[in-house]
Amino acid sequence: MASASRSPADETAVTGGDARLLLGGPIAAEIRLAVAEDVEVYRARTGHAPGLAVVIVGRDAPSTVYLQQILKACDLVGIRRWLVEVEGEATEGRVTEVIRTLNEDPLVNGIIVQMPLPPSIRLGAVIDAIDPAKDIDGIHPLNAGLLRLGYDGFLPATAHAAVEILRRSGIEIEGRRAVVVGRSAVVGMPAAFLLVRENATVTVCHSRTRDLKHHVKDAEILVVAAGHPGLITGSMLRRGAVVVDVGINVVDGKLVGDVDFESARRVASAITPVPGGVGPLTNALLLAHLARAAHAQADAEPGAAAPSRTRASVGSANQPLTRGAT
Ligand code: NAP
Repeated sequence: MASASRSPADETAVTGGDARLLLGGPIAAEIRLAVAEDVEVYRARTGHAPGLAVVIVGRDAPSTVYLQQILKACDLVGIRRWLVEVEGEATEGRVTEVIRTLNEDPLVNGIIVQMPLPPSIRLGAVIDAIDPAKDIDGIHPLNAGLLRLGYDGFLPATAHAAVEILRRSGIEIEGRRAVVVGRSAVVGMPAAFLLVRENATVTVCHSRTRDLKHHVKDAEILVVAAGHPGLITGSMLRRGAVVVDVGINVVDGKLVGDVDFESARRVASAITPVPGGVGPLTNALLLAHLARAAHAQADAEPGAAAPSRTRASVGSANQPLTRGAT
């Protein structure tokens, strides 16, 4: 990637014209390679592949596509995966019972649950049922708390991807003014905490924010996760801003983000496209989290031998995003 060698100074030097594209695909491919190596190490250690269980409760078209991509990615790197459909009447008790069974299954190292859940099932009850050690998408309160306190738990993969794409593209974060639009528990807030951890000065905006444009104009780094196509336009941006568009929306049958790409790319210095930006990286990081969970569980087995090599390549994909991490 020729563009990856640009210095942070280059990012801000680009004014007007076309922004540099921050592509998730090449970074995701690098991560998948590291995961595939880690899967082999795990297999040599335990005699079997690491495993992911995807719990499906009712059918929902968009998330099913998302899940299909995860299953395909698992196949690419040698992770075993199971679609666990909650059969019969999908009551809260039934769903939590299925999750508890998966918690106890030594072949299952990570669990993700299809969202959204049917309205009759409380999200909190389902999340609480997941063993935090298998919560590879960082939705359990324990992992959320670890992130908040700066410890090394599992990160929500999308928020992780939003910050990791900046780090791996050589964008300077430290000391810069970052604005996150969106405060959800799975994307906006964890992205904001990660940016603080990277020493950015962070403002979080939401639907009740007065004068969103004023805050957005201040952003040297802008992360948008609102679920509203076209919410952010080029005229709202500071010249030279770096824009990470997390939004995924379907408009006239086309996938678009929350940022009006054409106007934004003329003002920003760098921008993630939709599709092709944060999305592919989210998927790859989820696999990295799974590999890390699997090794951690093997390490915790009584009498486990010391890991045969360090797992910096994959482990770092979920480490505190500290300087020096690869
Ligand atoms: P969410 O739970 O609906 O949260 C949306 C957030 O945006 C809320 O905090 C909301 O504020 C805020 N918001 C809504 N309208 C706004 C406005 N007009 N101005 C300012 N803030 C506004 O959504 P989410 O789960 O965080 O997802 C956000 C987006 O990311 C969606 O498009 C989703 O599809 C996408 N996503 C992408 C990936 C990926 O891999 N790229 C993964 C997951 C999600 P309030 O809190 O005040 O309601």
